[in-house]
Amino acid sequence: MKVCASILFPLPLPEAFDYAVPEGMDLSIGDHVVAPLGKREARGVVWDLKSDDGKRALKTVSQRYDAAGLSHTTVRFVDWAARYLVQPPGIVLRTILRGEDSLMPSPTDTVYRLTGRPPARMTPAREKVLDAMQALEAPTAAEIAREAGVSSGVIKGLVDAGALESFDLPKDPPFPDPDPDRPGLDLSELQAGAADTLKRLVRAGGFQCALLDGVTGSGKTEVYFEAIGEALKSAANGQVLVLLPEIALTQSILKRFTDRFGAEPAVWHSGLPPKERRRVWREINEGRARIVIGARSSVFLPFRNLRLAVVDEEHDPTYKQSDGLIYQARDLAVARAKIDGAAVVLASATPSLESLVNARSGRYVHVPLPARVGTAVLPQIETIDLRQHAPPAGRWLSDPMVAAMKETLAAGEQVLLFLNRRGYAPLVLCRDCGHRMTAPDTQTMLVEHRFTGMLVCHLTGFSMPKPDVCPNCGARDSLTSVGPGVERIAEEAAAHFPDATIELFSSDMTGGAEAIRQLVGRMERGEIDILVGTQIAAKGHNFPHLTLVGVVDADLGLAGGDPRAGERTYQTLVQVAGRAGRADRPGRALLQTHDPEHDAIAALVAGDRDAFLDVERASREMLQLPPYGRLASVMISAQSEDRVEKAAAEVARCAPMADGITIWGPAEPRYGVIRGRWRRRLLVRAERSVDLSAYLSAWRARVKQPPSVRVTFDVEPYSFV
Ligand SMILES: [Zn+2]
Repeated sequence: MKVCASILFPLPLPEAFDYAVPEGMDLSIGDHVVAPLGKREARGVVWDLKSDDGKRALKTVSQRYDAAGLSHTTVRFVDWAARYLVQPPGIVLRTILRGEDSLMPSPTDTVYRLTGRPPARMTPAREKVLDAMQALEAPTAAEIAREAGVSSGVIKGLVDAGALESFDLPKDPPFPDPDPDRPGLDLSELQAGAADTLKRLVRAGGFQCALLDGVTGSGKTEVYFEAIGEALKSAANGQVLVLLPEIALTQSILKRFTDRFGAEPAVWHSGLPPKERRRVWREINEGRARIVIGARSSVFLPFRNLRLAVVDEEHDPTYKQSDGLIYQARDLAVARAKIDGAAVVLASATPSLESLVNARSGRYVHVPLPARVGTAVLPQIETIDLRQHAPPAGRWLSDPMVAAMKETLAAGEQVLLFLNRRGYAPLVLCRDCGHRMTAPDTQTMLVEHRFTGMLVCHLTGFSMPKPDVCPNCGARDSLTSVGPGVERIAEEAAAHFPDATIELFSSDMTGGAEAIRQLVGRMERGEIDILVGTQIAAKGHNFPHLTLVGVVDADLGLAGGDPRAGERTYQTLVQVAGRAGRADRPGRALLQTHDPEHDAIAALVAGDRDAFLDVERASREMLQLPPYGRLASVMISAQSEDRVEKAAAEVARCAPMADGITIWGPAEPRYGVIRGRWRRRLLVRAERSVDLSAYLSAWRARVKQPPSVRVTFDVEPYSFV
């Protein structure tokens, strides 16, 4: 019986197509091929091999690439993810594949080295070359010629005379093999205990998931390093994936990997130059890159033999990708490891409720890591009740906050003021007519950025100079800034402490990752007295002289329709409070709040996470929200309000009837219009027993809308704007 190949193309097609296999072409599942598709040739992947009775007229596979094919587990992962995310499998495949050059062997440079045999005849030019070669490492002919100041003929002459020899050096060199046996830092007794549990889990083989639940500063990284070492030892070609949020900003973590395993790991994030991406992808696909550290998109790398996936800061909301293919990287990493039969370590100081519930039910192995390493103790957390200590109008720092800052600065220590709001003021309005400055295409409030003099929409990036006259009533100089952003807090801090060095730390700093690294360096060295920062300042940095964290508005984020709002506020506040006092000095955190009795804030002050979680869990259980039920969002957008209303009603009507499913909406989301498109949302809640992906697929199949109407399915939505 002949064999035919099902080929999946990285395109939004509903399924793989069958092709005849030409005589002499040996195909396996996962192989990269080219095959005719319509009028053109397209790249695809062999998805299945089936017997063929030869009765159908099939087109023939044109070409097979010499590169290693996708592993069987990668193929299964694509199928699983497509079903789970309610997408055609080709769309998921598209996120896995890279350019054709990633399937070719690395391009090479011809480079030169000394043979150690001097030429029979020496000339001054030849001597210059031999001298220059002492200082050069594998130079090209052009580099030698430039360094020695000779023509390329001299180099050729030396090759002919046997004094130089050429060889090919890959432009994308392989990653050096890590050494799992290098000794790590000395572990405390608690760390060693946690590391043993993780190592046992890795050694046991097969899928298992552990939650490494350790307070800030407890030394989680060193603990999961032990698990990584074990995974590397478990198989000669075993691979490890480490997911980190904000990887592009955290250079210090790379150094820790290099110190621990004696070799630099492969790194993957969207900021990499194309050449480096090609190299990383090829080395992973060929099974030669053993440790891969990456941002969320690295769950789609073509691992050959994944033995361990680590998700650091597993609760971090940036693991959710909300544009294009919508996914949650932590959840996909767990699924991927399950398919590969690999171990998973989820690490966090403030685990998500989902992961904690899994740990308590025994689905995950719970590995608590209570104490901090070294002498540092957890910061003391106190609230400042703004109802009693209201700052004067137009000011946001209360008297007790300013007094604490004064004390800290007098002791030669540092202050972090935290406010998760970029810019100068979140709202600009006209004093005369009350007109609010909004973005023309989204109706969102424009945020004033005083350093640049612009009004900016944080949702779409729209910006305009701040006008001199009100666009509504024409009054001059009537536009006034309402509420604080970090720029305004920095201004207020400067008014209180004119001699202090004050810097801003937010994601719209100019100069990108390099500027951020330099700022972090200045803060670490104690060159900054007061740092005023947003969320980005709360992440992973270790500032040894920081002893006071002031949270300007602890209530921010508790309102709104997001079921995870309380949890996220709690996580952020723990994280930011944890920045204080990490070296040998105790730290304290002060939270300004109008609602000190709120569950999240009271639990934080009491240091009682379990109390907070119990309340949170009970309310989610009552409402059947995640992790007790499952959520999906169906977003409909169109070019006019009229059309979106009609389309949303249509989509809602198509929803299949099913038990255990509740549908809310269509409703207008917080941003009713984005980039000229009107939006409506349907929210789907499913009981845990319902196969939500199957339900959504059936629904999607019934939706018939013109291409001008977009219908986006989001499983486990994180954003409710
Ligand atoms: Zn006005």
